[in-house]
Amino acid sequence: MLSFADARSGFEDASFVVFGIPFDKTTTFRSGTKFAPTAIREASLNFEPDLFEHCIDLRDVPFHDMGDLHEEGSVDEMVVSIENEAKRIVSSGKFPIAMGGEHSITPPIVKAFGDGISAVIIDAHLDFNDEYQGLKNSHACTHKRIEDVVGKGNVFAFGVRSMSVDERPEEALFADSLTIHERGCELVFEEMLSNLGERSVYLSLDIDGIDPAYAPGTGTPEPFGLTTFDVKYIINRLGDRLVGFDVAEVCPPCDNGNTSMLAARFIREVVAVKWKSMKHE
Ligand code: MN
Ligand code: MN
Repeated sequence: MLSFADARSGFEDASFVVFGIPFDKTTTFRSGTKFAPTAIREASLNFEPDLFEHCIDLRDVPFHDMGDLHEEGSVDEMVVSIENEAKRIVSSGKFPIAMGGEHSITPPIVKAFGDGISAVIIDAHLDFNDEYQGLKNSHACTHKRIEDVVGKGNVFAFGVRSMSVDERPEEALFADSLTIHERGCELVFEEMLSNLGERSVYLSLDIDGIDPAYAPGTGTPEPFGLTTFDVKYIINRLGDRLVGFDVAEVCPPCDNGNTSMLAARFIREVVAVKWKSMKHE
């Protein structure tokens, strides 16, 4: 099987472990996110091993590609097996990087850390439903399920521009994309971060948080999104506080290739930024 570019370590030696979760059972509009892990690995081959602005050569980083989780069955069964795999990575002190699949993959990974961390979600959608189409583990409930794990006030969504009144937005912590556009990403992100305190942070990137002009290949695209530079800024701002990362909702059948490319590039960015901070600890 094709590995993520420059992920050349074995599991035991690795500080970073990337894995795919080709799962899209609760998708509500255009389907196909199950093809994303393979498309992101293929896209990763595009890049040079060096991230010049970080002075990092990815070939020097202990980075392992664990392959894909294959689990057929219900969404409820799937989240249990994701949690078990994530626990295996986290309990061995490694940094997990998941490639969805749809966004329902994230809460079980956060669960592997327990309740001592905070979470930042980049997403066009508030996804704060307690239940959606009879499912608690739907991708439309991701934010709510993460809040169940880390507790109220320890998770916020960034870049939101789609929600319904049923989601009780007044109870959720989030920054909407129009405010971010008007006041600037750095200022608004700083204000949101100040709510979280000093905990370590898990970052979940729903690729539809980025504007469809940059990331067209997703199941539920929403105009007026974040720029690629906004997301790069957020990764670098979180820096050594990052403990885990995922990128979800990339949908290769809807893509021109750029969305998978962007997902691969953000994985590389997270590895470089975190590795740099670890070397200086
Ligand atoms: Mn989402
Ligand atoms: Mn979304």
